[in-house]
Amino acid sequence: MENSQAAGKAANLRLLPSTEDVLNAPATREMLQRVGLTRLTSLARSAVESIRQELSENGARVAGQDAVSKESLLTDACRRLGELCESRSATRLRKVINATGVVIHTNLGRAPLSDAAIRAIRDASAYCNLEYDLVTGKRGKRGSYVENLLTEMTGAEAALVVNNCAASAFLVLSVFGAGGEVIVSRGELVEIGGDFRIPDVLVQSGAVLKEVGTTNRTKLSDYERAIGANTKLVLRVHPSNYRIVGFTETPSLASLAELAHRREILLYEDAGSGAILDLAEFGLDEPLISRSIADGADIVTFSGDKLLGGAQAGLIVGRRPLIEQIRKHPLYRALRVDKLILAALGATLESYSRGDARVTVPALRMIGLTRSEIEPRARNFVGRLKSVIGVGPDIEIIAGESVIGGGAGPGVRRETAIVSIKPTVLSAADIEQKLRSSKTPVIARIENERVLIDLRTVHEADEAELIEIVASALD
Ligand SMILES: *Cc1c(COP(=O)(O)O)cnc(C)c1O
Repeated sequence: MENSQAAGKAANLRLLPSTEDVLNAPATREMLQRVGLTRLTSLARSAVESIRQELSENGARVAGQDAVSKESLLTDACRRLGELCESRSATRLRKVINATGVVIHTNLGRAPLSDAAIRAIRDASAYCNLEYDLVTGKRGKRGSYVENLLTEMTGAEAALVVNNCAASAFLVLSVFGAGGEVIVSRGELVEIGGDFRIPDVLVQSGAVLKEVGTTNRTKLSDYERAIGANTKLVLRVHPSNYRIVGFTETPSLASLAELAHRREILLYEDAGSGAILDLAEFGLDEPLISRSIADGADIVTFSGDKLLGGAQAGLIVGRRPLIEQIRKHPLYRALRVDKLILAALGATLESYSRGDARVTVPALRMIGLTRSEIEPRARNFVGRLKSVIGVGPDIEIIAGESVIGGGAGPGVRRETAIVSIKPTVLSAADIEQKLRSSKTPVIARIENERVLIDLRTVHEADEAELIEIVASALD
């Protein structure tokens, strides 16, 4: 019995197609054109290998087939190859429609760029004057345009741009904290976005963390008592996606600055999202970068792709001698940004200096939308959707809330009007999955067996396509 099973297995293994057979099959011709021979060969090898493994584990049974033949195994290999190509291409970066209403959605690439930023990226993507001075014809300074815009709008003496805000914090702490103590309030020893933990960054930078105060209350005198001969700086961290409410106390930035300077140490604020414009009208109490500088922070860092609405970057502003010291550090060379990021940031910051950022920077425009601006769009959307699909699922407009995201104002909600779809045949989860796998993937929320679409984060120009996609998912 055992022998005949082994013989059967061996016979079946001989029926396996070769990689060549799979590549030559008519069914894979289209894939060959799409992904090229090298990649398709390696994927075809994996497809055949997965069948070989199943054959050697299960004998004849492969993918539910009771008996295998040369033809059935070839068909199966081509099918597996198709799936591999599919699953690989799903990880390729592509446009998605964000129907979640979360404006700064880290999983969906944070801030969508302005039209001007997109044009600037395209222009800079060929040769550009990245480090070339067009006036003198000599070597120029990378990033000077963005740095000037940043200093103008924050009131800081100098600025520098690196890969992201985590990099900027690491850099600042490495340059000014290494070998000494950095004082942080216990209420600010936070983890941001899963893998950025303030205590870990401090350790990595070579600084010794000196915790002061308690989780909910830290007084100026706590900081003062902690300052010793080896103290290099006081770090103030914006707690971002975390809030301590109730019986809380923390000294003002200005009083921390006064203390730090009296004791001849530096005050560094990691503002996280930060804000160039005062966004208090939307309920956002993010630190205004210009105010932090005016209050006496020596260095302030913030993200380029959170509330600012630009590309991924860490923006460092502060006193000139300190910024120049950072610029000279070898880590800066490793963390600096490329021309495309500088192009996008330059165009985004121009929107602020012209004074039209609330309209032209998509993240700000989306945050600013009121329910009475979204509701007519939602009505129009539902009308057009119903005219495509006719009678069927129960579609209505309900009151809801959008989230800002990106660690900005965790408790802040913006009233919105949501298109709520209760499918009749398929489940809400099925519809959500179909939306996610459409040609332009649509990311929507599910609540109470309903698919929810918040148009706050959908670009007007994408609405027609979204209607088509939703209609076909409901089909
Ligand atoms: C988001 C955030 C960071 C990390 O910023 P990235 O740009 O994602 O690297 C660091 N510090 C604070 C306070 C933040 O909110």
